[in-house]
Amino acid sequence: MMSPLEEIRHSCSHVLATAVLRLFPEAKLDIGPPTDTGFYYDFDLDHKFTPEDLEKIEAEMTKIAKENQAFRRKEVSREEAVEIIKSRGQERYKLGRLDDIPEGEAISFYENGEFMDLCAGTHVRYTAKLKAFKLLSIAGAYHRGDEKNKQLQRIYGTAFENKEQLAEYLARMEAAKARDHRKLGKELKLFHIDEDVGQGLILWTPNGAILRQELQNFISEELRKQGYSQVFTPHIGKLSLYKTSGHFPYYKESQFPAIPEPDQLAEIASAGCSCADMTARLEAVTSHFAANLNERVGREMISPDRVMDPTQLLDGFMLKPMNCPHHIKIFASQPHSYRDLPVRLAEFGTVYRWEQSGELNGMTRVRGFTQDDAHLFCTEDQITQEIQGCLSLVKTVLTTLGMSDYRVRVGLRDPDSNKYTGDAANWDKAENACREAAKTLGVPFTEEPGEAAFYGPKIDFVIKDVIGREWQLGTVQVDYNLPIRFDLSYIGADNEKHRPVMIHRAPFGSMERFCGVLIEHFNGDFPVWLAPEQVRLVPVSEKTLDYGKELLRQLLDAGVRAVLDEDNDKLGAKLRRAELAKVPHMLILGAKEAEAGAVSVRSRAKGDEGTVPFADYLPRVVNEIKTRALAVKAEKPAT
Ligand SMILES: [Zn+2]
Ligand SMILES: [Zn+2]
Repeated sequence: MMSPLEEIRHSCSHVLATAVLRLFPEAKLDIGPPTDTGFYYDFDLDHKFTPEDLEKIEAEMTKIAKENQAFRRKEVSREEAVEIIKSRGQERYKLGRLDDIPEGEAISFYENGEFMDLCAGTHVRYTAKLKAFKLLSIAGAYHRGDEKNKQLQRIYGTAFENKEQLAEYLARMEAAKARDHRKLGKELKLFHIDEDVGQGLILWTPNGAILRQELQNFISEELRKQGYSQVFTPHIGKLSLYKTSGHFPYYKESQFPAIPEPDQLAEIASAGCSCADMTARLEAVTSHFAANLNERVGREMISPDRVMDPTQLLDGFMLKPMNCPHHIKIFASQPHSYRDLPVRLAEFGTVYRWEQSGELNGMTRVRGFTQDDAHLFCTEDQITQEIQGCLSLVKTVLTTLGMSDYRVRVGLRDPDSNKYTGDAANWDKAENACREAAKTLGVPFTEEPGEAAFYGPKIDFVIKDVIGREWQLGTVQVDYNLPIRFDLSYIGADNEKHRPVMIHRAPFGSMERFCGVLIEHFNGDFPVWLAPEQVRLVPVSEKTLDYGKELLRQLLDAGVRAVLDEDNDKLGAKLRRAELAKVPHMLILGAKEAEAGAVSVRSRAKGDEGTVPFADYLPRVVNEIKTRALAVKAEKPAT
């Protein structure tokens, strides 16, 4: 049973298909379900849909809605279903879809006007109920999501109960487009992606680097308060390390990827090219394994996001896809007593994972990223407390950033599966620990059976930004597996060896993704502490330039990122420039201000704040930065 809104959206996909068949009778239909934000339908058609086609199709849909066709359900036998599908020339995909319906389950068609579609329902009763819909875009989509199958054309649309809701949604989409971090990233000079460096690899330009560094400082401060130790580890590790960690044999056992032994690698390298020629060597390796890799991905044996790039392989080393093994080796480098636990090792660790180029997206889907990573080694009894620590960190950081609208998901075992490492009693404890910790957060949380990893339960975070979009951030993950694989131990109070439990945590995911989300969340209007340029001094004319220089020195000395606009432009042009750069504070310096030792403050948050003595302004901005204040707390302007 669908909700009323889902019924509207799903009925729209029937009407969409009806319209497409009127205009393109040769189109072959696949499926058209509702989505979280609308609906789509997949078509196989030699003609490539254009934006103009979308307009025509939408107009036809409006006509069909006005025709007020009734949706009629028709239950049929399997044989009759085959007949109907054939008589309509839709056997290419629909027969397969019919096969998906298990024996003994009802087979139904829904008819509206001249159109008929294999469908379980449910729908609105009449097409006249469809009053507010819009076709949005065309995208390629593989039949059954499988790259090996034909790519179909997917038409996306959205629909609501009324025109007001539709307009509201479309306005929100426009707003989202305006604050797209890729666009803002360029305008505010925050980051750059260069084809010559590689897709999905972020170059942090000076402004973006400030943003990232400020965030890292903030998170590091909080981690220090919580008793974390900072570590640094290299970007590569031996293949054998990942074999021990299981990341390797695990893939191997699931038939992926016959990644070469070092000696095989040498063989491949020497087969096709001179050993000295590094590029050719890598190419030989790449082509050899890329074929294998793509095949595995195509057959859905492994998900693309878990695939490591074969080009990462170099003489028995690989770029690290995760930091855990390195941190484990630091933990294991010394004996530990129960009194040392928990050991908390933190690193902003850069890792590399292969993503399909089609899935790359600015900073939010990349191939190299820096996790706000940490690994906690603790006793069973410390799990709850450690998870609570992780969650309270998340709460502090998100609250400071004004992101109070978020929820957590607790990923638990699938009760019907036995793929999990570790004994059931421990799992129960760890799952309870996650649940209890989640409860203390005071935000909504859901339990999701089957979402745990095979090595332990997890918690992840989904935040809602100011325009209502949800972003998945990072996770906190309990792990029973790696301590076994690396044979980690500590000496307990009983003088016996015990196995520690590991917790992986990267609550914000990666600095790249988190900054991308923040850019959109703030629409580039960062709070003063995060803003790459915090204060712009704007002399009205060159007469107050020297005064500006004096204030600039004082600001810089106080640790404020200030810039003096020394150009000879008109005041309006200077203000406009600062406006475009989204500098949080502009200080306008006229003759009167210079004489009085004052500044005329204009802030992005509050607009014109009047003239204040510079001696009052300076401590105020310093305090705003130090306290990582969100909104400007202006004192009453002195006149
Ligand atoms: Zn339907
Ligand atoms: Zn880890």
